[in-house]
Amino acid sequence: MTEINIHGMLTNYDKKNLTIATVCSHSSLQIFNGARKEGFKTLGIAVGEKRKYYDAFPLGKPDEFLIVKNYKEILKHTDELQEKNAIVIPHGSFVEYLGAENFLKLDLPTFGNRNVLMWESNRDKERIWLEGAGLTMPREIKDPHDIDKPVIVKYHGAKGGKGFFIAKTYDEFKRRLEKGKPFVIQEFVLGTRYYLHYFYSPIQDNAYKLSKGSLQLLSMDRRDETTIDEVQRLGSIAELEELGIHPTFVVTGNIPIVMRESLLPKVFKMGEAVVEKSLKLFDGIIGSFCLETVVTEDLEFKVFEISARIVAGTNPYSFGSPYSEFIQPDLSTGRRIAQEIKYAAKKNQLDKILT
Ligand code: AMP
Repeated sequence: MTEINIHGMLTNYDKKNLTIATVCSHSSLQIFNGARKEGFKTLGIAVGEKRKYYDAFPLGKPDEFLIVKNYKEILKHTDELQEKNAIVIPHGSFVEYLGAENFLKLDLPTFGNRNVLMWESNRDKERIWLEGAGLTMPREIKDPHDIDKPVIVKYHGAKGGKGFFIAKTYDEFKRRLEKGKPFVIQEFVLGTRYYLHYFYSPIQDNAYKLSKGSLQLLSMDRRDETTIDEVQRLGSIAELEELGIHPTFVVTGNIPIVMRESLLPKVFKMGEAVVEKSLKLFDGIIGSFCLETVVTEDLEFKVFEISARIVAGTNPYSFGSPYSEFIQPDLSTGRRIAQEIKYAAKKNQLDKILT
């Protein structure tokens, strides 16, 4: 649990003069652009030299930069950021670069519920949460001798699919496994991948209603992963594996996608269940989250991961998606976050969405 007194900090904040701050990476162009559209000042935290490439994107550039030598140094600048009434928008890279422990003790109001981190970063807890919500996850194989179908082996703490591998037999598993690294083995789910981008507001009732607040579906993407997504250009995976060329799952980009409309009720039911369960387990997830799913040929969803904050898969939709267009034109996830902060500030409810 975080022990920082965000509540106290917020009482000293000038609510009419807030600054939206994030680390310059991941989805920051979209976050700054969305905040700007909602009338906020913006601040980009960058390591080393000012990120020159922002000059090429004036509408996605922060109003000012805080340059630090390394990400851990952010912790030394929190007073300065508090003086600017800064609200931090965490994204995957932000949490990764700062480190989970430092992120939890970051002395700044942060969008979302920071306590979700221990539920998503620990695979056992994640399973308790998602299966407890009634979602189907890929089967876990506890004993590698039981491998009788293709499996995906995931090392703990591996980021962006790096180092994951597929094995079809126990022998193959044994040959490929790097010793000394903790791992889990999951059934490799065959189907099509959809990464669903939700937004949960605990304070607004103007969307798909839940026991408290409401849920939106803002967009969905498919990740572009190298080399698995292109490796077939060179031959079948089996052929290549014989040559010692193994597919990898490193994310290089994101592809926009829509789903057959008849599946949307299931999408909302899953999102609803995840939020309701989170309310019971840890005071609730807040704001953006993403369910990473595979849809099987029986049109069943298998959920292999949850990300509890803005994901880079929302980046194809800086100017809205085929779903957010039905909520409001030009609505990105970054902008939706800014709107939530604006609404909460106006209603004196910032403590309900910031931790
Ligand atoms: P993750 O780091 O868990 O998001 O996984 C990285 C990538 O591995 C995903 O984007 C999928 O392409 C693939 N993947 C992960 N888990 C599974 C699974 N159980 N079945 C099939 N593919 C998976």
